Amino acid sequence: MDGLMMNRPLLQAGLLDYAADSFASAQIVSRRVEGDTHRQSYGQTRARAVQLSLALEEMGIGPEDRVATLAWNGHRHLELYYAVPNIGAVCHTINPRLSAEQLIFIAHHAGDKALFLDLTFLPAVETLKAHLPAMRYVLMTDRAHMPENGLDALCYEDLLDGRATDRDWPQFPETTASGLCYTSGTTGDPKGTLYSHRSNVLHAMSIAVCLGPDLGPQPRILPVVPLFHVNAWGLPFAGPLMGASLIMPGPHLDGESLWQLCEDEGVESAWGVPTIWQGLYTEIRKRDAKPGALRHIVVGGSAMPRSLTEGFEKLGIDVNHAWGMTETSPLGSHGSLPTDKRRLPFAERMALKATQGRRVFGVEMKIVDENGQRQPHDGTAMGGLYVRGNTIADGYFDNEEASRKVIDDEGWFMTGDIASISPDGYLTLRDRAKDLIKSGGEWISSIDVENFALAHDKVAQCAVIAMPHPKWGERPLMVVTPATPDDRPTLDEICEILAPHLARWQFPDDLVFVDEMPMTATGKISKRTLRQRFKNHVPPEPAED
Ligand code: AMP
Repeated sequence: MDGLMMNRPLLQAGLLDYAADSFASAQIVSRRVEGDTHRQSYGQTRARAVQLSLALEEMGIGPEDRVATLAWNGHRHLELYYAVPNIGAVCHTINPRLSAEQLIFIAHHAGDKALFLDLTFLPAVETLKAHLPAMRYVLMTDRAHMPENGLDALCYEDLLDGRATDRDWPQFPETTASGLCYTSGTTGDPKGTLYSHRSNVLHAMSIAVCLGPDLGPQPRILPVVPLFHVNAWGLPFAGPLMGASLIMPGPHLDGESLWQLCEDEGVESAWGVPTIWQGLYTEIRKRDAKPGALRHIVVGGSAMPRSLTEGFEKLGIDVNHAWGMTETSPLGSHGSLPTDKRRLPFAERMALKATQGRRVFGVEMKIVDENGQRQPHDGTAMGGLYVRGNTIADGYFDNEEASRKVIDDEGWFMTGDIASISPDGYLTLRDRAKDLIKSGGEWISSIDVENFALAHDKVAQCAVIAMPHPKWGERPLMVVTPATPDDRPTLDEICEILAPHLARWQFPDDLVFVDEMPMTATGKISKRTLRQRFKNHVPPEPAED
């Protein structure tokens, strides 16, 4: 027997409508490309999203059409996040840090009908235009800032001007596609994750449930994580649900600019990848002061070095280490601690904070060995991490072959991460499957070695990669960017700092230096580039044990 309750579709429009009705004082603050700071309420955001949706329809955009964006975090990008899906079309966020080749591939694969772009990206798009599919271009600016351009582009503010500011949003099934985001893909062509209204609304609710208590009522949140990378970790949807003010940083993401923005706008919680927090931490040390209101950061995308977490925590900033991927919307786990664990002594608390935290509501996890056998959640057994839930991709957009490879016989998604899970539910990522180093038949976790080495004062950034070895199969090579160029750490100094934590055979065999780490489009160290660069590195004498 079915329950006798209404069944209304979970549509993204409902999130913005709710914020517009309930949180009149919350603001969207944007540092714009034009150089000014813009403020608007959720009510105004809704009104402008309505205007934009009407303009889109007039441009011939309708259900299932893909509308691409190439833009920083700002109010116009947020308006697109609602206007496009609210008429049944798909908002396709493109990462501007991708190579030209990948960008062209993605635009064709997605079949984009229009591209909305910030002024910053105009020269790049003009250069690529001949290789992109035929589509309409819209420059996300006003008439006063409209440049001459070779795209025959429309002006964003002109599109909105004079239109009605209210409408009843169209209704359609909640499973309708709403967003498309391609993973940069370390091998092969980029693959598209196609979110639905339902998955995004449920994901927003998971964030509000799991992180809400730490964030507090109507927090002021800084999404440093870009809107072009996995929906800025769900903040465009969870923000309105929680009545959060969103402080959009625009293009300036260096430590100094972020420190000032946090200070000027009373940011309480900031979200981003570890390299961003490294920059902010350096600025805090330089000024010997943290931004006044900052009390919480969410970090993910790659492992947060433990020394950095401890640095922030000592300043009274709660570090919430989260794990996720493009295919998981992205939040899969979060580092908010339950009450009893908050009372633990500092060192024990930091050990928990170094993990990727506990799963969010609605995401199930299993770890399996190479034969597909489930491994116990005992904190030591390592295995491939698989996830399942309503916010997890069930395949890739228009790519059956790749889809088949990532879903197992029981319907779980294969993350490609190697992890262990403790009896009380703490997930620890040990490595990407392809980054693990197999030495003499035993696995070495590159993340572990990197984390301990990063505690050394002379190490600014560090990556451990496998180098082929005649006797052991593979041995670890450590690549370091020194904190000060003329004060490089020695291999012995590194091994000394690793000694209390790791077995001798897990120490790197050699140490090399780079002035600058190669980074991926999503702000992670590109180990693929490093492996390529050091593929002819001559290993030192074979290790003896
Ligand atoms: P992306 O889809 O580009 O966001 O990349 C997802 C991948 O980033 C995951 O599969 C992990 O390998 C890595 N990752 C994400 N969050 C973390 C984290 N907190 N610690 C370590 N690795 C992470």
